[in-house]
Parts: sequence; C-alpha cells; structure tokens
Amino acid sequence: MAVSVMQVYKNLPGLNCGKCGEDSCMSFAVKLLHGEGKLEQCSPILNSGYTTKKKELEEIISGLGKAEKTGLIIHEKFCSGCGNCVIACPVSAMADPGAMGGKGPKSRDLVFRVINGKVKIVDISRCRRTGEDKRCRICVDVCPTKAIEFV
Ligand code: SF4
Ligand code: SF4
Ligand code: SF4
Repeated sequence: MAVSVMQVYKNLPGLNCGKCGEDSCMSFAVKLLHGEGKLEQCSPILNSGYTTKKKELEEIISGLGKAEKTGLIIHEKFCSGCGNCVIACPVSAMADPGAMGGKGPKSRDLVFRVINGKVKIVDISRCRRTGEDKRCRICVDVCPTKAIEFV
C-alpha cells in the first residue's frame, strides 16, 4: 500500500508549532515522506500523549527507509505472511525449483522469506530489479494485502 503524505500527516501532533524547522506539520510530513527529515526533529511527538502516533510513524518511516537499491518497500504491518511473494518471485524458483510447486523454497538464496508471520528481506541484491529486468513486479502483483510496493 503506497504511503501517502496524509498518512504521515495525520500521525504528527498537528500543532504547526515550527519546532521541527518547518512552517507546518504538513510540510514536515512531506519532508519525512521524502526521507529528508528525522522524526526526532518534531520534539512535541516525544511527549507521552503521542506514543501511539509516534509508533505508527516509526513503522511508516522504517518501511520507507528500506526503499534503497531496487525501490522495493515492504510495509510489514500489512503483511499477512501468506508467502505468495516468496513463492512467486523468480529468484526463489531459480534457487529452489520446488518453489514453483507452491512450497516454500528451502534455499537461502532468496530476496525475501516469511519469518514469524512477516515477510523479511534476506538479500535485496538478488532482486531482478538490481540488474537487467527493471520491470519485474511479480511480488507486488501477487500480494493480496498490497504490502509490497516499488517507488
Ligand atoms: S514540530 Fe511537530 S508539531 Fe510542530 S510543526 Fe513540526 S511536525 Fe508539527
Ligand atoms: S521484483 Fe521480481 S525479482 Fe524482485 S523481489 Fe519482486 S518478484 Fe522477486
Ligand atoms: S504476498 Fe504480501 S502478504 Fe503475502 S507474505 Fe508477501 S508481502 Fe506478506
């Protein structure tokens, strides 16, 4: 599920106090979304009254931070752990042909695997998008909860 600026904004305190160096919470939300600011710059959110919002923002931001080499982002909070992406990823099929039959690949030479009910990146450098095939998006298409996206 793509993260929108509103998702970030609605979890900020909404005080428009400027302590983060921005004129408004909305402009700080835009900065966070683009990875240009640190959540700690908003000192009010460190107050106990904003614990839930802070946690929510940390989850959103940690997901954004994973979008490095390939642009792949996994939003763990949306992941049901179904394993569709692991099985459908062509890298899994190459590493373990058994994966094509719908079984979890035994190899560790994968892009990701499901650990404790959540998909985790094992080795992003194996993703086809780091090489020739920038168009591969099979994992995104097979995810029923829209937990994977590319930016
Ligand atoms: S410091 Fe926090 S509450 Fe104040 S304007 Fe920035 S984001 Fe909004
Ligand atoms: S983009 Fe393709 S190669 Fe990369 S993780 Fe997804 S399915 Fe696998
Ligand atoms: S397909 Fe989606 S919900 Fe299923 S394990 Fe992968 S990321 Fe999680």
